[in-house]
Amino acid sequence: MKLSGWGRFPNVDCTVRVARSEVDVRAAVAASPLIARGNGRAYGDAALNRGLTLDMTGMDRMLSFEDGVLVAEAGVLLGDIIHTFLPRGWFPMVTPGTKYVSLGGAIAADVHGKNHHLDGSFRSCVDWVDLMGPDGAVTRVTREDDLFDWTLGGMGLTGVILRAQIRLRAVETSFIAQETRALTSLTDTLEAFEDTLDALYSVAWIDCSDGPHHGHSLLLLGRHATPGDLPKRQKPLEVKRRAKLPVPFGAPPFLFRGLWLRALNGIYWRRGAKRAGHTIVDWDSYFYPLDALANWNRLYGRNGFLQFQCALPLETAADGLAALMAEIAASQSGSVLSVLKRFGPQSGHFSFPMPGYTLALDFPANERSLALMERLDAITLAHKGRFYLAKDARMPEAVVKADARAEAFAAMRTQMGLRDRFASEQSERLGL
Ligand SMILES: Cc1cc2nc3c(=O)[nH]c(=O)nc-3n(C[C@H](O)[C@H](O)[C@H](O)COP(=O)(O)OP(=O)(O)OC[C@H]3O[C@@H](n4cnc5c(N)ncnc54)[C@H](O)[C@@H]3O)c2cc1C
Repeated sequence: MKLSGWGRFPNVDCTVRVARSEVDVRAAVAASPLIARGNGRAYGDAALNRGLTLDMTGMDRMLSFEDGVLVAEAGVLLGDIIHTFLPRGWFPMVTPGTKYVSLGGAIAADVHGKNHHLDGSFRSCVDWVDLMGPDGAVTRVTREDDLFDWTLGGMGLTGVILRAQIRLRAVETSFIAQETRALTSLTDTLEAFEDTLDALYSVAWIDCSDGPHHGHSLLLLGRHATPGDLPKRQKPLEVKRRAKLPVPFGAPPFLFRGLWLRALNGIYWRRGAKRAGHTIVDWDSYFYPLDALANWNRLYGRNGFLQFQCALPLETAADGLAALMAEIAASQSGSVLSVLKRFGPQSGHFSFPMPGYTLALDFPANERSLALMERLDAITLAHKGRFYLAKDARMPEAVVKADARAEAFAAMRTQMGLRDRFASEQSERLGL
């Protein structure tokens, strides 16, 4: 069947098998080189293998829970964990910007949230992972094991994650006390991030269409609200299911170009700036605004779209981000939503974050965007940055291998006999 990641590019003919048990996974591993797939929320080709793509969403049982410690199968979605445990006062320690990711996908990409500067990536809440290796044997990989460090951020290339134990965060309410700050340049935005490092959650939406000096941004800070923050009649741990708005197939391409893009960004900023200040918002709107739109990935039409996400070290971030924004503005094409986050310290052998800043942008999939993204690669490398594999669909091997960790990762895979069993379209393209 034709299969793609969330960006709908590339779209590849894959043989897909659904695993419902450990026995199914073992049979698949014995039969063919494969890649495990979670809920397909990685943007590019990380969870695609033409030969065999093993759909893990059939293994979605929660196995035990005590005092915030959950053991669950890899195919469980973060959203299901939230709907089950938030009414009891527990929330994921780290969450990406969509709740439709599987536990296995969150571990394999070692996802980050808006609290990386304080809490690190998903690995900080993982106690152990049951991993099936190339011979079908299952190893419980704990934080002391080297394989743990390769698996968290290893993009499914160290084996198939069957189940894991994670720790959830105790919360008193299902609401977030949010503060919005409206800022008018990249410099002001970075200063505001540095001034608010004690805020549990922080993220900025930044307008890249006009260059760094006009880089209007909305910085959203958040913390879990206490019952005292809520209106009197509000039940503290109420968890509602939001209705989803359908998205029409394909917005007109001109919306993603020049003046239109600037206009859209301007409207978004002015609306946000009017509402600047303190508010109480529910968990779903705060963490997962895009999840309210069903299939919003169809917005970019049949050709799909590409994400560019890099991380830049603290020392070079201000210059590097300014150069990226100038290049994007000059190209007159670009991202409707550009997201900036502050990263803190990071452990692990191959995870994406590093202390500094990360910028994520999306572009319609076309020749013009691909050419622009090559220029953004070069700027990132010149500023000693790195790239997020969960968002990648098109990087050349040389760009990824500029990060010495990629060579070490490939060497480890060869040494452990993983290369012949676990491979994705992405790992083949990048020589991992
Ligand atoms: C709207 C949106 C917002 C996002 N925001 C963020 C964000 O803020 N931060 C962030 O870090 N990421 C973010 N992402 C990316 C997303 O969190 C990751 O791509 C995540 O890995 C997707 O999980 P999945 O279950 O859909 O996995 P898939 O997309 O199916 O697979 C992703 C990777 O995980 C591997 N994998 C999946 N299951 C297993 C398993 N059982 N065993 C071994 N390997 C496995 C796959 O091989 C692949 O390499 C966002 C994505 C979207 C669509």
